[in-house]
Amino acid sequence: MSARVLVVDDIEANRRLLQAKLEAQYFTVMHAENGQQALDIARTEKPEIILLDVMMPGMDGYETCKRLKADPRTSFIPVVMVTALSDSEDRVRGLDVGAEDFLTKPVDDFALMARVGALLRYNAVASELRQRQASGLKAGAVEVISDEEISRPSRVFIIDDNPRTSLRMANMLRDDGHVATTLLEAGDMSNLADMGVDILILSISSQSFDALKLCAHFKMTESTRSISIILVCDQSERQKAGKGLDIGASDVIISPVDRQELMARVRTQTRRSRYIDVLRKRVDRGLELSVIDQLTGLYNRRYMVSQLQQVMHRSVMGGKPVSVVMCDIDHFKSVNDTYGHDVGDEVLVELANRLRENVRPMDIVCRPGGEEFLVIMPDTPGDLACAAAERIRRAVASAPFHVSSGSRDISITLSAGVSTITGDQDTMADLTKRADTALYQAKSAGRNRVESIAA
Ligand SMILES: [Mg+2]
Repeated sequence: MSARVLVVDDIEANRRLLQAKLEAQYFTVMHAENGQQALDIARTEKPEIILLDVMMPGMDGYETCKRLKADPRTSFIPVVMVTALSDSEDRVRGLDVGAEDFLTKPVDDFALMARVGALLRYNAVASELRQRQASGLKAGAVEVISDEEISRPSRVFIIDDNPRTSLRMANMLRDDGHVATTLLEAGDMSNLADMGVDILILSISSQSFDALKLCAHFKMTESTRSISIILVCDQSERQKAGKGLDIGASDVIISPVDRQELMARVRTQTRRSRYIDVLRKRVDRGLELSVIDQLTGLYNRRYMVSQLQQVMHRSVMGGKPVSVVMCDIDHFKSVNDTYGHDVGDEVLVELANRLRENVRPMDIVCRPGGEEFLVIMPDTPGDLACAAAERIRRAVASAPFHVSSGSRDISITLSAGVSTITGDQDTMADLTKRADTALYQAKSAGRNRVESIAA
């Protein structure tokens, strides 16, 4: 994940230190040495994230953050307060003035990457949804999401096989007015979404279950995907926690868990996931029927074209690759011929479900027509898109399709072609043409496979 980061600190040595750490992870770094400079650069350069020192002469970090958040041109940029003060009161104060997160000096590499990574992932989803809400749907002015809507007490599930630590966290949360439930083992949790759970706290130290496996499972399942996951680990498990962030956990807390930190992280995660929820519902509501395919509920060709244009444009501007996966059901005509069109329609609907369940929240799944599907994957290089396509292929081929008409099972496979944007000269027609060529190759190589066209 690459992004532009603005580092604000009055001391040059501190700026250089953060710069070195960030550049080692391929971030692009900009500097400001005081609050006013930070405001100016934020306005003109629009960095993806701001690391803001608290203690600065003149305008301090709190005041700078307040002004960043008050200006609509910069309010959406996530701010991480960097504080030398170990007093947790000060960390919370940062969140009160609108900062998204905080880090304590001396800044530790793991914490830095965990916070920055989590914020960027959240921002990718939120801005995707904001764009979709704003784009071409003319659903009216973007309303401000009320604080009440997103700051009700949180419902938190704690899954930890150590009853002592889980009870301690539960009590902290209850003291703060949240609803906390502890689970000693990872049983059947398929109805978590129905229970309105906002946050799952998973202990990596648990012996009786694999916290990362569980995390991956929740993130792959459509009904639980939007629930935020906070991992709790001890110092020696940081590497594992880092993996957890890669597979979709939102945040990490190092144990022993500090009360103020737990409250702050729960509050931030709840706000984020509710904000995403509200945005997503609005996007759904605002969508005119004209952009939805009536049979499958996926986006139709018209929407696909408008979104692909925008995503490609943003990719060229921001330099992040976009990939597309074009899928086609193998021998679909013979399904229709053998079982009739009603069964064919059922197959299309089930295929749409499997596609939806196997993509990330930011991906856009479309049915441009017939038995053809196209997934737009923003911010995705070719190798990741191929891996995603392979996952989709497997999800389709691995279990037969159950159709109610005649209540039978039918084996279905699909072929997929992947292509990735090559640069600012690449057009939508080129990109989809390459995906189509790759798809054709997959068909001629025997079907039920994924091919890609190297740029
Ligand atoms: Mg300072």
